[in-house]
Amino acid sequence: MKIDWTKMGHRTHKQAMALATILASALLTINPAHAGSISRIEADGSQITISFDDLVEGASTFSLAGPDRIAIDVQGGKAGRGGFATGIVKAVRQGQYNPNTARIVFDLDRPAVITNGSFSDDGKSLNLRLRSVGQNQIASGRQSFLPPLKFRAEPPKKSYSVKMSLGKPKDSVRLPKIYGPDDPSRPLVVIDAGHGGHDPGAISPHGDAREKNVTLAIARAIRDRLVAGGRVRVALTRDSDEFLVLEERYGIARRLDADLFMSIHADAAGNESASGATVYTLSEVASDREAAKLAARENKANIINGINLGEAGRDVSSILIDLTQRETMNVSADFAKLLHRESSRQMTFRKIPHRYASFVVLKAPDTPSVLFETGYLTNKDDVAFLNSSQGRTKVAAGVASAIESHFARKLAMR
Ligand SMILES: [Zn+2]
Repeated sequence: MKIDWTKMGHRTHKQAMALATILASALLTINPAHAGSISRIEADGSQITISFDDLVEGASTFSLAGPDRIAIDVQGGKAGRGGFATGIVKAVRQGQYNPNTARIVFDLDRPAVITNGSFSDDGKSLNLRLRSVGQNQIASGRQSFLPPLKFRAEPPKKSYSVKMSLGKPKDSVRLPKIYGPDDPSRPLVVIDAGHGGHDPGAISPHGDAREKNVTLAIARAIRDRLVAGGRVRVALTRDSDEFLVLEERYGIARRLDADLFMSIHADAAGNESASGATVYTLSEVASDREAAKLAARENKANIINGINLGEAGRDVSSILIDLTQRETMNVSADFAKLLHRESSRQMTFRKIPHRYASFVVLKAPDTPSVLFETGYLTNKDDVAFLNSSQGRTKVAAGVASAIESHFARKLAMR
C-alpha cells in the first residue's frame, strides 16, 4: 500500500490512519499459517539464540550421544541460513526435516544439555541455555518451547482438522450433573478426581491419607469455587468413591463437549523431602525421566490382575497419540502456564512447574487437558496442606482464577 501523505487532506489522512491502525491490530491478532525461516543462529559457551524472519509454531530440543549433539526441531519453520558457533558448540547444521519442520543440529565438543529456554516476546527468536554435563547425564526426553500465543504461527489446517471416533462411549457410564449457569454458551470445565473405588492411588505415610479422597475433596472445592464465581459451567467425572477407567474420564469430557479437562492428583516419592505441585500436559515424549515414570504409574490405574480395563487397547492408544492435534496440545500448554502463574501465589510449585508426558487420561484429541499433581502425599507439609480445608480453598482459588482467565476472552465476546 502506497500512501502519499502530502496529497491528502486532513480527513483522508485520518481515515488512512484508522485503516493503518486496523491493519496493525489485525497483524497482531491473525497468526499467519506460513512458516518463518531461520535467519540467524548464534551459539557461544552457554547460550544459543535462533532468530526467525517470521512466526513459527514452536520448537523442541533433544540431546544425542556418540557423537554428542543437540538437535532442535522448529515446527512451522523453514531451514535458512547457517550459524555461528564458538565454545562448546563445534559446528551448526540445519535442514528441512519434513515440510513443516526445520531441524538444527549442534555438534558438541563435549556432552551438554539444554537447561532452559524461552521465546522472545515477539516470538521471533528462541533463547536456550546450555550446560555441559557428564557423559551419563544426558537426558533422553524432549523439551518443548512455545512462542507467546499472540505471536505464534498456526499449524497447517489439516493437522488439526482430524475428527475421529474413539469408539462408542460406554452407555453404562452416566453423564454427570453440570453445575453453574444454565447457559450452554458458557465454557464447560470437567474436573476429574484421580483414582477412586478399589484404586486408592498414593497413600501417605503421614496419617494414612489416600490420594483418591484427597483428589475428590480438592475437585469438589474447585467446583464450588467455580460455581460461586458464576462464570463457567463445571462437572465432576466422579462425585463419590467410585472407580472409572482412564478412558471413561476423558470420555465424559468429550461426550459433554467440554472446553477444558483437568485431572487432579497428588504424587508420592521415595524421598520424603520432595514437595510442591507440577502441572503436566500431553506429549509423545516425556520431558524427563521422572515425568515418564509418573505417567507409567498413573497409567497403571487401568490394569487390574494384568487385565487392561481401558476401552482403547494398546493399538488404539498409539494411534490416538499420533493423531493428537497439536492445536489442542498447545492450548493445554498455554493453560498449564496460566495455572502455574495464577496458583503460585496460593501454593508451592516444583522448580520445573510444567512438564510433559504420555498420560492416558490426557489423550482426548480435541479437549485441552492438563493433569495437576497438587503436591506430595509423602511430604509432611504437602499432605497437611492438601488435606486441610484452608489448603483446598487455596488450591481452588488458584485453579478457578486460571480457568476464568483462560476463558476471559471467550466470556467477553458473549
Ligand atoms: Zn494419581
